[in-house]
Amino acid sequence: MPIRAFSAVSTHLNHCKLLNRLIVCGLFAAILMTSRLSEASIGRLNRYEYARAAMGVRARIVVYAPDRRTAELACQRAFDRLAELEDVMSDYRPSSELMRLCAKAGGPPVKVSKDLLMVLLRAREVSKISNGAFDVTVGPLVRLWREARKTLRLPDPSKLQSSLKLVGWQKMCIDPKRSTVRLKFPGMLLDLGGIAKGYACDEALKVLKRCRISRALVEMGGDIALGDPPPGKRGWLIEIPCAPTDLRRQELSNCGVSTSGDAEQFVEIDGQRYSHIVDPRTGLGVTDRIEVTIIASDCTTSDSLATAISVLGTQKDTELLKRCYPKARIFMRKATDGG
Ligand code: ADP
Ligand code: MG
Repeated sequence: MPIRAFSAVSTHLNHCKLLNRLIVCGLFAAILMTSRLSEASIGRLNRYEYARAAMGVRARIVVYAPDRRTAELACQRAFDRLAELEDVMSDYRPSSELMRLCAKAGGPPVKVSKDLLMVLLRAREVSKISNGAFDVTVGPLVRLWREARKTLRLPDPSKLQSSLKLVGWQKMCIDPKRSTVRLKFPGMLLDLGGIAKGYACDEALKVLKRCRISRALVEMGGDIALGDPPPGKRGWLIEIPCAPTDLRRQELSNCGVSTSGDAEQFVEIDGQRYSHIVDPRTGLGVTDRIEVTIIASDCTTSDSLATAISVLGTQKDTELLKRCYPKARIFMRKATDGG
């Protein structure tokens, strides 16, 4: 009997093994079928593209979705997210969360939203690594240079000096645990122009992912956030400015790509061209005339690094940045007078 029992047990075990194998085979077949099915459904994905004004630029979203309704709903949510972030980070709207924080400069710590906290923490990280070349406290200087673009006159040297005193990333104290920010001196002004669009592109891409659209591209001005590649492709075909007249085509996915330079925003005074990107250490608009493109793990990183490297130029600090972001790829080209 024990043998039988054993044998019975053994037979039972054999049955179990057989059953297990059948289950494993079944699962394997199911996985194969699902992957075939998803390949088939990928084949059925269509390309949809939408554009809207956001954060002072044209925001463009390209998605691959099974039908128009799915695409429209998801993109609507992504555009809503961009509008929400504009309310947080705009330096043109006095009612934005950023401007309300600046209005309290010199006062006690101010509680901030998760988005503002996140962007300011990321900005501080790039400030540290770039030795202050990237600095969102640059607001007072940016205002002076915006004025210079209107009047076509260099900023008044005494105003430049007093603005410089309000600039410096260490003058912005962030407490991540309490979600508070304190701007040490009255008159300090934050400007997120060098990072906000990158962050917004990343956030819009996340919204699309939550709507089950992973094959997507979000573009705002010179910033592009890329999700999974279009169906059947290895990546999104992106042209990167390299040599003066050369564009290098790259197939990219799941990364951020940003370009910074003075091609569109600048002022020319006495034959000198000053960029809208300001060197926070001198207070002067950058005159190097280089166009920088960065490919990084996300668009918040690529956006801020492109601005930082526009200030650093070819200096040795750029090497430091490269070491801190080893996966980032940096392309620089001397801008031509044509743009
Ligand atoms: P764009 O906004 O044209 O895409 P950037 O991403 O390089 O270009 O951002 C430039 C903007 O960043 C400026 O218009 C200004 O608002 C802000 N800015 C200027 N200089 C600096 C700087 N040194 N560090 C951080 N932000 C800057
Ligand atoms: Mg930037």
